[in-house]
Amino acid sequence: MSVDVWAEVDLDAYRANLLRVRSRVAPAEIMVVVKNDAYGHGIRPIVGAAVAEGVRFVGVLDPGVGIELRASGLPESVRLFAWLFAADENYGPAAAARVELGVSSVEQLRRIVSTTDGPRRDVLPRIHAKIDTGLGRAGARAEDWPALVRAIEAEARAGRVEFVGLWTHIAEASDEEDSVSIAAFERAALEVAPERRADLVHHLAASAASFSRADSRFDLVRVGAFGYGIAPGGGVSPASLGLIPVMSLHARVVAVEGEGDDAVAVLPIGTADGLLPGDVEGLEAASGGRRAVVSIGLTETLVRDADLRVGDVVTLFGREDRGEATLQEWADALGTIGEEIVVRLSSRIERRVIDGG
Ligand SMILES: *Cc1c(COP(=O)(O)O)cnc(C)c1O
Repeated sequence: MSVDVWAEVDLDAYRANLLRVRSRVAPAEIMVVVKNDAYGHGIRPIVGAAVAEGVRFVGVLDPGVGIELRASGLPESVRLFAWLFAADENYGPAAAARVELGVSSVEQLRRIVSTTDGPRRDVLPRIHAKIDTGLGRAGARAEDWPALVRAIEAEARAGRVEFVGLWTHIAEASDEEDSVSIAAFERAALEVAPERRADLVHHLAASAASFSRADSRFDLVRVGAFGYGIAPGGGVSPASLGLIPVMSLHARVVAVEGEGDDAVAVLPIGTADGLLPGDVEGLEAASGGRRAVVSIGLTETLVRDADLRVGDVVTLFGREDRGEATLQEWADALGTIGEEIVVRLSSRIERRVIDGG
């Protein structure tokens, strides 16, 4: 990967966003969601910053990511939660690393019990039961839910698992649908015996709902995008939510093609580095306080700014308070969401962590 391309990851901005989200959702707690690599921002610095701020829950997609975080020294006081598993998952390593498990079916529960019935039985697998409240992406369906709850309660009584949470995931696309999901979640919770229910951490909302709806917050909200300063799209800017983009993408001009007013600057980054193909209206970069239209090719991005010289730094997306295009503008221009752009960005592009402390 060219040394002339890099992404800055601003931990001061990340901390400011966490504060913003926390004050918005309190008294609910936050789970910082990193999925596999903190949405392309780099998992270690992001988790380190969150934990230093006192965040007590980290959500990883895949248990292997949680196991690695634990092995890197993440203390057990920080609770890890994973929810994507292979059909033939061996849950032993995850349970031993104290990675808590999202569970959607009795079959999965049986597999958890059978694969963790090993030498470290002092460390019981911790279960968060998932109900499908309309999204149709994992989670027990309403008709299967009572059987799942009964089975988890029985395994907990037998001392084979710890029942610690109830959760679901919602679309956050329309208020109406979300209201239906919230009501379904509340109904599902009643299936658990009251004395046990009081001890379960209830969690439903991700970034968007956690911000906009108090009734979605329950005990804990799972926040990915807003922590990174990624707005939900549709023209809503991060600043309008009080959020600061954490990542900015920069490249140095390596050549100038053409002459005079028609000259275009060449940046050594393209779709081969994970950018989405784009020769669309509204796609802009910034340099020296000026905006210019860009088009993205396979290995190069062209910037229509006749004043750029070889060696100048261009910011592809960054921060509106610096006059730069935001990830949100790029996402709107490219017809996608901000997350899609950052998670696809090649891991070979250097992440330069900025940490003012
Ligand atoms: C990705 C994810 C989140 C975080 O969503 P954001 O919109 O990025 O905050 C929360 N919960 C689940 C289950 C997820 O997959």
